[in-house]
Amino acid sequence: MIYRDIGKTGKKASIIGLGCEHLDRKPYEQVKETIDAALSCGINIYDMFMPGKEVREYLSKALGSRRKDILIQGHIGSTDIGQQYDISRDLPTVQRFFEDHLRLCGGYIDFGMLFFIDSDDDYKNVFESDIASYAQKLKEKGDIGHIGFSSHNPVTAIKAINTGLPEIMLFSINPAFDIIQTGDSIFTHLDKGFNIDSFSGIEPKRAELYRLCEQKNVAITVMKALGAGKLISPEHTPFKKPLSVAQCIHYSLSRPAVVSVLLGCKTAQEVFDSVKYLELNETELDYTDILSSVGSGMKGCCVYCNHCQPCPSQIDITAVNKYLDIAKLDTTNIPPSIRSHYQNLTHRGNECTKCASCEKRCPFDVPIISNIEEAEKLFKV
Ligand code: SF4
Ligand code: SF4
Repeated sequence: MIYRDIGKTGKKASIIGLGCEHLDRKPYEQVKETIDAALSCGINIYDMFMPGKEVREYLSKALGSRRKDILIQGHIGSTDIGQQYDISRDLPTVQRFFEDHLRLCGGYIDFGMLFFIDSDDDYKNVFESDIASYAQKLKEKGDIGHIGFSSHNPVTAIKAINTGLPEIMLFSINPAFDIIQTGDSIFTHLDKGFNIDSFSGIEPKRAELYRLCEQKNVAITVMKALGAGKLISPEHTPFKKPLSVAQCIHYSLSRPAVVSVLLGCKTAQEVFDSVKYLELNETELDYTDILSSVGSGMKGCCVYCNHCQPCPSQIDITAVNKYLDIAKLDTTNIPPSIRSHYQNLTHRGNECTKCASCEKRCPFDVPIISNIEEAEKLFKV
């Protein structure tokens, strides 16, 4: 394993980390085997955004005394209300969930991540509120080692970094999120050395964010490096062919200030496959040819991240989008299993009130309401 300095924290992270999200709702044995595999590969940084009680307990039990050997990103504001994951800006609620997580992590969390700072409101409700003060108190008391935050929005992230408070940021990075959709020639400017100044194809605000992080020595850990699997999928890639997992890892690790790519492995085998990255040579990792074919980005594409939840009508929006994406590959020949999965949802598209709260929360501008309407039409029996 290779380790990188985490900004100015004095700590080092393995360049491949584990985003534990996909261990949610998995049996304990599977959680344990995945954690064992990750530890055996030298993975030392783990993101635990999930507020669910069971998954937190399973992770804690699987780690046992090895907790002290790893770094944990725990999220301040990630809550589980009414059995749906939610973002809370209500201090007592935030405290309740974070302090329970602290308890399960042995009374100490390495990085207290202010959760989901995507909009101006998120920024105001966290960085200009008692939630930021709470994080500072946690740090003063030694309950957390450092303050960080998570975001998908470069404009808001820049504001957060400029407060001087965060030392680490969890940000969604992959080649599709980064590019500007201005034709197919922008990536001819890319240089294999990945010098940020040569990336004329990178969206300017993103480029500014990465540079700012580097300048202020704020470390970036990466989420969604594979675009929820779309970049490596022959059906869903926006490029002329899918990237490999290793190419996606390599792309993210090549951004300035990035210290670790957190992959959502959910089995031991997936962990072992991911760390094969370390054995590949530069030619095998090179992705510039694939990116130069770009014609569209990921805007409007659902990456199944669940950030649009909760839905007041309790529609599982991610599942609807997932089934719809599969159905749209050939609408004249929808697999019966997909139709029946949709029909078996407890709450379906016909219950959507068009409140649009989901669309406001979606970091990728997915037209959720029209997707839901389309799904309802397509899957009608
Ligand atoms: S617009 Fe529909 S799907 Fe979205 S949150 Fe409201 S009810 Fe749920
Ligand atoms: S609709 Fe948006 S927020 Fe919801 S799962 Fe898809 S990408 Fe994520």
